[in-house]
Amino acid sequence: MAPQIRNVFVNKTQLITPHMKRVTLKGPDLSDFPSGYEGGYVRAMFPKDTGNDNEQGAIKDRFLMRSYTVRNFRNAAQELDLDFVLHGDSGPASKWAETAKEGDHLSIAGPGPVKRPPPQSDWVLFAGDMTSLPAIAVNLENLSRETEGKAIILIESDEDRVDLREPPKVEVQWITDSDAKRGTETLISEFEKTNLMGSEPFVWAAGEFELMRSARKYVKRLDTLSKDSSYVSSYWKSGETDEGMKKAKAALLATDG
Ligand SMILES: Cc1cc2nc3c(=O)[nH]c(=O)nc-3n(C[C@H](O)[C@H](O)[C@H](O)COP(=O)(O)OP(=O)(O)OC[C@H]3O[C@@H](n4cnc5c(N)ncnc54)[C@H](O)[C@@H]3O)c2cc1C
Repeated sequence: MAPQIRNVFVNKTQLITPHMKRVTLKGPDLSDFPSGYEGGYVRAMFPKDTGNDNEQGAIKDRFLMRSYTVRNFRNAAQELDLDFVLHGDSGPASKWAETAKEGDHLSIAGPGPVKRPPPQSDWVLFAGDMTSLPAIAVNLENLSRETEGKAIILIESDEDRVDLREPPKVEVQWITDSDAKRGTETLISEFEKTNLMGSEPFVWAAGEFELMRSARKYVKRLDTLSKDSSYVSSYWKSGETDEGMKKAKAALLATDG
């Protein structure tokens, strides 16, 4: 089935940290956007420069699609917040977000599913970088106050810390490194040395490809973890566009199961 596409416009923007810009999208097309998808994602659509205006062509041939987490959705106001990492690279999404201003248009597809620990999880481990910070923030906000655990988050500079609403017994550990490769290595090592506790632990890891690769191995090694007790995903891959990352992900899954 063709994805539902909504045409929206930028209502306001806010540089929430030096490397993260919140873009608030608005418009009548959001009137039937479903509630409860915070932490899920939409696909922002950027027209390919094909020189061919064939509006009937397949979406994948006409647009570059980039995934962004639904950070907030305000149903009554028909407003959707997406937090874009400004990674300063040539990617169409980051480039668009850099200059996005009131009145700019954007088409989005989705939303895609929310990946949350189930309510019975009593101990959680989150690991991620700035691309998964919006999803981790939503997850922490939605945990019960009794949940225990740890969230390890890699940011580019100390000023990229955001206020999180984590339950009192969840520790948040920030790792600051402006070098993404070195930072991801530190993140992986901190993640791997964390001992899971509780009777129903849940592991959530998303960020650069190498985090996904390591987290998959970590989860497989833990025979105490039940099959449905983890979510591991690659959100981007250093040196690859989103399309390249997806190919690498598919190749890894094909060889690694
Ligand atoms: C389910 C899901 C949810 C996501 N949610 C968010 C979100 O809420 N906010 C967010 O910012 N991102 C999010 N991402 C990640 C985002 O989709 C990717 O970073 C995407 O590649 C950005 O597209 P682009 O057009 O800017 O760059 P691309 O065209 O994909 O890549 C161009 C170049 O930029 C590099 N690059 C891409 N992303 C980064 C980065 N973060 N840091 C440094 N270099 C990078 C690539 O390696 C490549 O060299 C999410 C991804 C998934 C799968």
